[in-house]
Amino acid sequence: MTMYDLIVIGAGPGGYVCAIRAAQLGLKVACVEGRETLGGTCLNVGCIPSKALLHASHMAHEMHENFATLGLMNAHADIDWERMQAYKAETVATNTKGIEFLFKKNKIDWLKGWASIEGAGRVKVGETVHETKAIVVASGSVPTALKGVEVDNDAGVVVDSTGALALKRIPKSMVVIGAGVIGLELGSVYRRLGTEVTVVEYLDAITPGMDAEVQKQFQKILTKQGFTFILGAAVSGVEPREGGAVVTYAAKKGGEAQTLEAEVVLVATGRRPYHDGLGLEAVGVTLTERGQIAVDDHWQTSAPGIYAIGDSVPGPMLAHKAEDEGMAVAEVIAGKHGHVNYSVIPGVIYTTPEVATVGLTEAAAKESGRKVKVGKFPLMGNARAKAMLQPDGFVKLIADAETDRVLGCHIIGPGAGEMIHEICVAMEFGASAEDVALTCHAHPTVSEAVREAALACGDGAIHV
Ligand SMILES: Cc1cc2nc3c(=O)[nH]c(=O)nc-3n(C[C@H](O)[C@H](O)[C@H](O)COP(=O)(O)OP(=O)(O)OC[C@H]3O[C@@H](n4cnc5c(N)ncnc54)[C@H](O)[C@@H]3O)c2cc1C
Repeated sequence: MTMYDLIVIGAGPGGYVCAIRAAQLGLKVACVEGRETLGGTCLNVGCIPSKALLHASHMAHEMHENFATLGLMNAHADIDWERMQAYKAETVATNTKGIEFLFKKNKIDWLKGWASIEGAGRVKVGETVHETKAIVVASGSVPTALKGVEVDNDAGVVVDSTGALALKRIPKSMVVIGAGVIGLELGSVYRRLGTEVTVVEYLDAITPGMDAEVQKQFQKILTKQGFTFILGAAVSGVEPREGGAVVTYAAKKGGEAQTLEAEVVLVATGRRPYHDGLGLEAVGVTLTERGQIAVDDHWQTSAPGIYAIGDSVPGPMLAHKAEDEGMAVAEVIAGKHGHVNYSVIPGVIYTTPEVATVGLTEAAAKESGRKVKVGKFPLMGNARAKAMLQPDGFVKLIADAETDRVLGCHIIGPGAGEMIHEICVAMEFGASAEDVALTCHAHPTVSEAVREAALACGDGAIHV
């Protein structure tokens, strides 16, 4: 039997990236995955299928809303939901097969099945116990349950994100419980395809944790697109009925219970770390109060030789955060210096327009006791955004008022998810707002708005 240097449990973006980097560093690596395809939540039921449906539904939206303005008259396309689902499945398949190819290329053994940890250096898959010097747990996360609500993805009425990606038909109406990233992205898919979408959120603002101005403006834009929001409301139950379900909710400050009916109810209230069946407790791996695997600065758990990364450990539940940790822990195990800069992890919402954010919000920067400068530039002053019929967003740059160092950036606008990386690089290099302002930006691009926001931190933006 092969003696491995490393066995990774889970082939999501954390696990498969860790396996590849470890193999590149010369380790003998295996990766255990219980799903039939590699790529984890991200490739199978997360980032990739949702972006495929967002892309297809965005095209439909452009056709209905904007083509006539552009002089493209009488455009019409029937929506073939089955074909759209097939396109989504093909997109997923080419990506999951791509990981299989990378495993073969890097001589990584895929151990097919569900793993449990039998003790230090011992991983059981099926009836076989494999031996290894180190173990990385990258077992990911699953949707959280909401008290009083039973999800049944097969029935397709009360669903979580996995069910919402594969509905049998486009519903006439949908209630989304939770105004976070996943709820708003999937809500957008169906809204663009003609569904009446109502979002019920417990907090008083959408996209919890984001900059307050982004929350407000983004809600305005989505409302203009036809979303209905019920904020500050607690859902107490969802009852399936003939042709749909009834959602019961009440204002959290007190008030009468109210009901909403919809063909489909999407429960999008968050995700929880998943490590069922791994036997972590028996081998001495401790968890945090929130059920995440507790790790130190080097992703080492409380059990020697067992590391953990990705959604199963604390931090934002994002594929690129999991990937970064995957690379870094592989370096640590190979005796190098793995590092992740948690203060520069971008977050993107892939709606239209996109929302992208990195670093501190204005409120968090002020709470940290610093003197803060804010440079804001509305896309109304950006020629390219106007030509793309998306002038409703803005770029907001937060800088330290004393040192001018960039602390954060918040963008609503077309391509925001690509534009944010300019600021990620600037922050990694400890750049000042002036550094960004002095960098020549091609015209006409939406990225010029980033430079204008940086100029607004100094002597002023030009196009306002
Ligand atoms: C609808 C949706 C959209 C999303 N969109 C984005 C996005 O646009 N951008 C972004 O950054 N993030 C997005 N995410 C979040 C992203 O998918 C996760 O943060 C990411 O997948 C976490 O990676 P991971 O490697 O930690 O775990 P996962 O991707 O969850 O992978 C864990 C894998 O481990 C396997 N596993 C678990 N236990 C065992 C075991 N005992 N034995 C064998 N295998 C096991 C599981 O089967 C799974 O395949 C989205 C999530 C959802 C649900």
